[in-house]
Amino acid sequence: MKGTNMAVLPYTSIVILLGTATCILSQEPSEAVLNYRLRPIYRPHLYQINLTVPSSAFTPTDNAYSGIVNITFSVVDNSSSIIELHVDREYLQVQSVVFGNGEQNIDVSQNISFNDDTDIMTIGNQSIVVGKNYTLEITFGGLLSTTDMNGFYKSSYTDVNGTTKYLATTQFQPTSARRAFPCFDEPALKAKFDINIKLPTGMLALSNTLRNSSTIVTTELQEVQFERTPTMSTYLIAFVISDFDCTNAPTMVDNVPHQVCSRQEASSSRSWAEEIGPKVLASLNNYTQIGYGESMGKLDQIAIPDFSAGAMENWGLVTYREAYLLWDPEESSNRYKQYVATIISHELAHQWFGNLVTMQWWSETFLNEGFATFFEYFTTHDVLPEWELDKQYVIDVVQNALRFDVLESIQPLQSNVSTTKEVFAKFNTISYHKGGSIFRMIEHIMGAANFRSGLQAYLKSHRYNNTVPEDLWTELNKTTDLSYSNLPEPLDVVLDSWIKKTGFPLVKATLNGSTVTLTQSRFLLSGNTSSTSEWFIPITYTTSTDENKFASTSPREWLKPNSAVNITLSGNESWIILNNHMTGFYRVNYDSTLWDRIGKALRTENFGDIHEVNRAQIIDDLFNLARTNQVRYSEVFGLIEFLNEDASYFSWTPALNGFSFLLERVGRESDLGQKISSHLLSLMTNLYESTPIRHSNESDQIYTLKQVLAQSWACYLGHPNCTQQLRTLYSEYKINGSRPNKNLRDAVYCTALRHSNDSSDWEFLWNKYLNATLATEKSTILNSLGCSTNEILLEGYLNMTLNDTSGIRSQDRYTVFLSVLSRNTVGIDVAARFMMANYAEIIEKYQSMNSLTNMLMSLANKFTTQQEINMLKNFTESSNLKEEYVTVVNSAISTAEANLKWMQQFEDDLYTYYEISNSTTNPPPTSTNGGISANTGTNIVALLVVISLFSCYN
Ligand SMILES: [Zn+2]
Repeated sequence: MKGTNMAVLPYTSIVILLGTATCILSQEPSEAVLNYRLRPIYRPHLYQINLTVPSSAFTPTDNAYSGIVNITFSVVDNSSSIIELHVDREYLQVQSVVFGNGEQNIDVSQNISFNDDTDIMTIGNQSIVVGKNYTLEITFGGLLSTTDMNGFYKSSYTDVNGTTKYLATTQFQPTSARRAFPCFDEPALKAKFDINIKLPTGMLALSNTLRNSSTIVTTELQEVQFERTPTMSTYLIAFVISDFDCTNAPTMVDNVPHQVCSRQEASSSRSWAEEIGPKVLASLNNYTQIGYGESMGKLDQIAIPDFSAGAMENWGLVTYREAYLLWDPEESSNRYKQYVATIISHELAHQWFGNLVTMQWWSETFLNEGFATFFEYFTTHDVLPEWELDKQYVIDVVQNALRFDVLESIQPLQSNVSTTKEVFAKFNTISYHKGGSIFRMIEHIMGAANFRSGLQAYLKSHRYNNTVPEDLWTELNKTTDLSYSNLPEPLDVVLDSWIKKTGFPLVKATLNGSTVTLTQSRFLLSGNTSSTSEWFIPITYTTSTDENKFASTSPREWLKPNSAVNITLSGNESWIILNNHMTGFYRVNYDSTLWDRIGKALRTENFGDIHEVNRAQIIDDLFNLARTNQVRYSEVFGLIEFLNEDASYFSWTPALNGFSFLLERVGRESDLGQKISSHLLSLMTNLYESTPIRHSNESDQIYTLKQVLAQSWACYLGHPNCTQQLRTLYSEYKINGSRPNKNLRDAVYCTALRHSNDSSDWEFLWNKYLNATLATEKSTILNSLGCSTNEILLEGYLNMTLNDTSGIRSQDRYTVFLSVLSRNTVGIDVAARFMMANYAEIIEKYQSMNSLTNMLMSLANKFTTQQEINMLKNFTESSNLKEEYVTVVNSAISTAEANLKWMQQFEDDLYTYYEISNSTTNPPPTSTNGGISANTGTNIVALLVVISLFSCYN
């Protein structure tokens, strides 16, 4: 599954940090560990699923369908006389159960019981022994979900004639197959599936495999039988019944039919997916040396109007949010073009890593999602090298994981989960981004060719099966070249520390004479270095005299637990930098002499030949070392002065993340905030001028991403020329209908609304939203509407998320909340008031498992004053919150208190740097750009910051 949190743009243009992200920071061990799991004795072999979804289910009022499932299974243990499987009784009503023991069929309907906490149905008093096959025939009535987008659920859209059309679709990962049909709903309980659906004539049914046959049953019903699936997990089953149509991709890879499907009106925006999909598939076929067609006879990619995650890798029938599959060359931005390509790569990589070979249980979710994240970038890079996704990986994935994995309480990659809530919580930044970062580190430890051979062997030996990390290490061990990797211990021993331990190391380099000594400690947000966790760390480095600067990423040394590494310099080197291309998952700090030398080199011509990815590394490490009080901000600002000259997208992304954090803490409109803004604006002069508003170059992806970055930030910081130009573009759009450049639309919309007191500007854009049919445009507008500084408009906007007929889809409700919260200072109070006044309705309407949790955490991250902390405290006391939410509010209060403490700790250093007196009695000056009203009560800035500790995935 791909989360919706691909907010790699941490600036004013952004955002898609929503969905059902479950930001559980620490998981208490489950009280009843075994109860949520089936006993490990069942071996399902074949499901025959017959569903009847009548035409009444495609109306606004009726959601009923019916089904019969026949499951053939055996057991591997004689010790039990009961049979257990999963049924979610909120959606399924079991009508009868017939048990077949090979000799007779016994009606055991009176012999069943249910546990609605664990969703386990138990059939008692049956003799089951090893070596025999049994059957269960379960007849049931089902309900399509209309309250969330999990299980078998209903979605709708309005066609060109203004008619509402309904469709029924599925989202089973991780634990919702049991909502659609009774099953052994655990990833290791793989089986084959025969799926047979009766549906209204004239509608299209798709499932994982090709249609076997299609027959007319009555004038109203047709019956579609699908080919038997390969052996697979229940969470990967999918079916969609709609009036969509599909187009064939122009090229077939290995003779596998490949279609892109959507509502018919959107057919013109399928061509990018049709073009890129086969290229991605061919690249993965080649990388894995296992043809997709060996297990699946077709591939469909389908855009679903209502979808909670970003996309889902159902084997052979991949489902997407519309905005991540449908791309219009005239109207959709380059950023969305990249999303479509990378998310297709992510989902198609899962066809091998997840579908063909599946993790044993959700405790090892990173085996699925870490690999999918890795190939999301590197497969796309193989197909489109000019997008430089190998470098984007460092700033989007590695640095994001390093910013996230910094709390004492955070879970390691591999951690035990049991309850449904814990399982959902594994779909987080650790599994995706840390997992992906560790796989990239292993690739560089082993060398790309050896890593690839190891993965090929791993896939081959475990296909149609399930794995734990040890299975992967075993195969990788075999293809490791010891001399290349210079390993101090076997690979599995080395990797164990990265998988089972929480956090990551900080490597400290200290110069003594001509020797650089390296030591390690855990990097923690608290700055606490007393933790005993230590790692086997692959050390690479470059010195000023190395000819092949930064190119080598094979380990030159290993920094082992409880020891140091000494590097002897010849004396001619003017600098040394560790962690070439940031392939190691760690940060580096140097003593002041070594930092000075690096700083000097960066100020020379061509930045001392220091590679742009290592410049990005230095900047990100510096800001995070300063944040944790290990380097002073005044030193950081001195060391990054070279950004005056540097217009690299890769240098600037972490720099703006660093500044964004600072501005969020001190408040954009405060005295200090304005000093920081002016400093930043002056530092980015070269960047801004190298990407003029009127000069677009769509064919250059990095230029375009950089232009959006530079223009959004300059306008946000109040650059007069930028603001004026973008406001003019908005007026032109409003007056004569000329649409702004598709890449700058977010910046244009947001800047215009931020500076407008005229509510007709907001209404103009809202009407554009209502009339837009393209999902990328709708999403861009929704993100921008929160930029207004008019509290009444913002309140009205938030209230619309609770209104089913407002035109805001349930999948987008959280986007609206984040837009109001994140895009300007005024919105923080508005969002806080809204959340507190409507929390009960939010839990119901926002339709994700943890929307209130995510809201509270997002809010807390913006809070920095005692007044705001008190507001949260009053909220817990005055509201009737459930215990689980009280815990979250308390967590939020701790976060806000930490923010306050941070401010007290660092403001002197910042004030000193900017040579202004630290007087709290000075009223904050009026905003320089005239648009953002100064808000003394809320010293927080309005940026969506990806560095948010609590941003996480689904
Ligand atoms: Zn995924």
